[in-house]
Amino acid sequence: MAACYAALIVTEEMWEAALEYPNGFPGDNNAPDWIACELDQHPHGDHFATLRDLTKADDGAVWAVWPAPEHAEIHHLVHCPSTSPKKQDACWLPTGHRGGHTWERFE
Ligand SMILES: [Zn+2]
Ligand SMILES: [Zn+2]
Repeated sequence: MAACYAALIVTEEMWEAALEYPNGFPGDNNAPDWIACELDQHPHGDHFATLRDLTKADDGAVWAVWPAPEHAEIHHLVHCPSTSPKKQDACWLPTGHRGGHTWERFE
């Protein structure tokens, strides 16, 4: 299934909130201009997009979650534990996400 790709403009406020989480990669200080929802297409519910990757020590990422662009929230979420049947691909969405796993798009 194709991804949702709903876009969100990253505000300075959102990026400051994202930088408050520890365990980031060195040098990841540049905010993206915008991000896009990474879930499978969905008719309802919140959109999810990675705002900032964290190192393996954290097993997660900083995500923007938004039902509508003016109500975006910043959350630290751990990764979905699912892997493909051959264990070659992982799913990079947050644990408990709706829709298919990202590895299903490649198999
Ligand atoms: Zn979405
Ligand atoms: Zn998954």
